[in-house]
Amino acid sequence: MPEDVTFLIVGAGLAGAKAAESLREEGFDGRIVLIGEETERPYERPPLSKGYLLGTAERDTIYVHPETWYAEHDVDLRLGTTVAGIDPTGHQATLADGTRLGYTKLLLATGSSPRRLGVPGADQDGVLYLRRAQDSDQIKQTLQSASRVAVVGGGWIGLEVTAAARAAGVEVTLLEAARLPLLAVLGPELAEVFAELHREHGVDARFGAQVAEITGAAGRADGVRLADGARIAADAVIVGIGIAPNTRLAGAAGLKVDNGVLVDAQLRSSDPDTYAAGDVANAFHPLLGRSIRVEHWANALNQPKVAATSMLGRDVAYDRVPYFFTDQYDLGMEYSGYVEPGAYDQVVFRGDVAGREFVAFWLAGGQVLAGMNVNVWDVTDPIRALVRSGRGVDAAALADPAIPLEELAGD
Ligand code: NAP
Repeated sequence: MPEDVTFLIVGAGLAGAKAAESLREEGFDGRIVLIGEETERPYERPPLSKGYLLGTAERDTIYVHPETWYAEHDVDLRLGTTVAGIDPTGHQATLADGTRLGYTKLLLATGSSPRRLGVPGADQDGVLYLRRAQDSDQIKQTLQSASRVAVVGGGWIGLEVTAAARAAGVEVTLLEAARLPLLAVLGPELAEVFAELHREHGVDARFGAQVAEITGAAGRADGVRLADGARIAADAVIVGIGIAPNTRLAGAAGLKVDNGVLVDAQLRSSDPDTYAAGDVANAFHPLLGRSIRVEHWANALNQPKVAATSMLGRDVAYDRVPYFFTDQYDLGMEYSGYVEPGAYDQVVFRGDVAGREFVAFWLAGGQVLAGMNVNVWDVTDPIRALVRSGRGVDAAALADPAIPLEELAGD
């Protein structure tokens, strides 16, 4: 590689920042330009709906690197900058102000954007989404003055924000379209655990709820009307109904896009010098034998190292077992694995489900697809090993806390 190479990273979130870090760790001493639309330097998102929103974690703790890190590592971090287009053939990116930037290799770490609620009244003040640090600030401020809020969407954002609202003493009506929260990800057995958790904490949880309108006065939301006519009064409406990958640049440049930028296990797109990582990447996963797009922190944390190494021309593949975690009230959990909706035939519990101290396993044909530890710690490694092994496991042994998971995982 000639010495004047430039590696351009579009997207200065966790994935973009980690890619820059990995490039330097791997000894790359060429030019790195890291471009972000936000004016905030790269930060991690989990605290935005957990500790930072709850007020237990300070602003300083959310950042990926100290402010001085970028200059110290000769990373040209350009914040408040929008890339308008990329030209993979000409190896050039055009910024919104018309500046052209040549590059040798390009990493798309453009992330994703919240889906917007498409009902009348949804554009009023007081209808809030959570994606960026400033959104978290706004919701935190709202929770300090509101007495009741409506939360639309019983996914991860909806449930974590609901827990933060209850911790702030705010009444919550939770509106989820499906018959249970987190149903598509966890299935009914475990979704019920989360439904019960929130009910126990005084949440007015309404499932199968169809939001028809955000009601309001003078341009400000004051509640929700459901399709069945029910009206819910609320000082604010917080919406978490999923995200869509930011594929505009890739799509306009003619790269293959299908539920994200399609990349191989090396995280290389349909153009050999363009890579993608994080929420935006729909990556072939060797362990699963198919492409998946993972919208979680651990993916944005770990994929960039592989992307960076791959950009440096080494033969590596991203095959980590998908992982995510949540904290809601006094429930902390970690999930390792991947299960398509309905793709399991058995759920096995080990431990005290009623007391919310257990591990759940999703199985298909006796093989562990995923495991989730709830208020049980230091078991991620054996769960991961069980998932990775692909071996059949005896369900009775899996359910028996006296048999160490390490033994079953064959560690
Ligand atoms: P999400 O986890 O995909 O959940 C969205 C939820 O909203 C789903 O349950 C969905 O139901 C429901 N929904 C969709 N349209 C609706 C409507 N019109 N009315 C009511 N409910 C509706 O997405 P999210 O909670 O918005 O989170 C955004 C992203 O951040 C996700 O990628 C998530 O993984 C990530 N995140 C992760 C964590 C974590 O790992 N702890 C925490 C926060 C955020 P259906 O499934 O039936 O469509």
